[in-house]
Formats: sequence, C-alpha cells, structure tokens
Amino acid sequence: MRTQIVAGNWKMNKTQDETEDLLSELSAKLPDSHADVIVAPTFVNLGSAKNALQSSTIKVAAQNMHFAENGAYTGEISADMLLNLGIDIVILGHSERRSLFGEDDSLLAKKVNTAIEKGMTTIFCFGEELDERKSGNHFSVVESQLKNALFDLDEKAWNQIVLAYEPVWAIGTGETASPEQAQEMHAFIRKTIAEAYNTSIANGVSILYGGSVKPGNAAEIFSKPDVDGGLIGGASLKADDFVAIIKAI
Ligand code: PGA
Repeated sequence: MRTQIVAGNWKMNKTQDETEDLLSELSAKLPDSHADVIVAPTFVNLGSAKNALQSSTIKVAAQNMHFAENGAYTGEISADMLLNLGIDIVILGHSERRSLFGEDDSLLAKKVNTAIEKGMTTIFCFGEELDERKSGNHFSVVESQLKNALFDLDEKAWNQIVLAYEPVWAIGTGETASPEQAQEMHAFIRKTIAEAYNTSIANGVSILYGGSVKPGNAAEIFSKPDVDGGLIGGASLKADDFVAIIKAI
C-alpha cells in the first residue's frame, strides 16, 4: 500500500498572520485521514508554521531550496536551514520554478541530490506544456524530465522521493486533466521507473496529480489506481476546500 498524500502548495500567498489563521482553521477542521497532509507556506513563514503545528499531524514542506551547502548565494535557502527549522520535506521542480526562474533538469538533479544526501523527502514536480501535449510529445517530455533529474539516484534514495505529475496546462487554469489522462500518465511514469529500476521501486513510489484539483473533481481523480493523492495550489488556500479535498482521498 503506497502512502497517500494531499499536499498544499501555497506559493507566494499568505502573510505570517494569514498563515497562522489558515493553519488554526485547518487544524480545527482536519478530518481523520489515512493520507499524509502537508502544507508548503513560503520560506519566511516556515518557522512559525512549524511552531503552530507542533501538536498536529499536518506536516510542513518548503517550496524550494538551493543545492549548495552554504555560501555566497544571495537570496537563497539551504537544506541545513530548513532542517534546523524541523522542515525535512521540499518541493522541487515546480513548473513555476522551471518557467519563471529558469530551473532546468540539470539544476534540479543537483537540488534533488542535496535533498537526498541531507535525508529530506523531495516532492519532485514535472509535467508537459500544452503544445507538447497537443503535438503528442507528452510522454517523451515526462520521460526525459524524470531521467535527467532522478535516474542517477541510488535505488535506496527512492524511499525519499514523491512524484507530482503536474501538466503545465492544468496549473491554475481551471482546466484539469481528465481522470483518465492522469491515470494514463501515472501508469506510464510507473512503467518508466520499472524499466529504469525495478517494479518494486515503481510500485512503491507515491505519484501525486496536480493541476486545478478542487473539491468537485478530487474524488474522481484520486479514485484512479495509480494516483496516490494531489498537489493542490489555489484550493489549498481555503481551509474548507482543502479539507474537502482531504476527505476525498
Ligand atoms: P493549482 O496549482 O491547484 O492552483 O492548479 C497546482 C500547483 O501548482 O501545484
């Protein structure tokens, strides 16, 4: 049985006060769930979020980090800084990091390696753009994103990897991949990992779907056999919506 996960990527939203308000509402309304629930506030609010959730089962993740140990990287955040706050989960490779901040597969491979070496769990995001889907290249795009960033990892590193398939055309657009499209891609991802490694790694890794998941479509997407949960953007910013999505898993 794979770990089921509902993770909220808050992106550049919520001040510290708003973060605390949302977390207390979320904690109060949190349903019992077999799934791991994760929230990813922005860097400046990670410490206070972690404190606010001390007696909660909700886990806290960072949205990004640098690969270097420390040094002259103005504006960046290291793994040790996150670990020192008690944050051992990091989202890497989100499409906004790729498209707006120029992060490519080789940079992401370094970040993933650092996260693994530091004992962190990585939620690794990838997915095709609209033109790549329209031209029928979505499988090869996804395969190369996985290969370039992850397929040099040791087998045992896969215990620390969670995958998040997020078709770029579905992120923040209101357009969701159909449950069938999600299932088709998730099955392809598992097959690709089985070929590169083995079926036990492929069957053990949790693969989340992300892109306009909402209370109204979550249950159907999560019902697919190779979908192990979701990475939720917009709908994770309202406690009631996020709770409804947790209930859907
Ligand atoms: P969305 O974002 O749910 O707002 O589409 C998902 C994501 O970017 O992780």
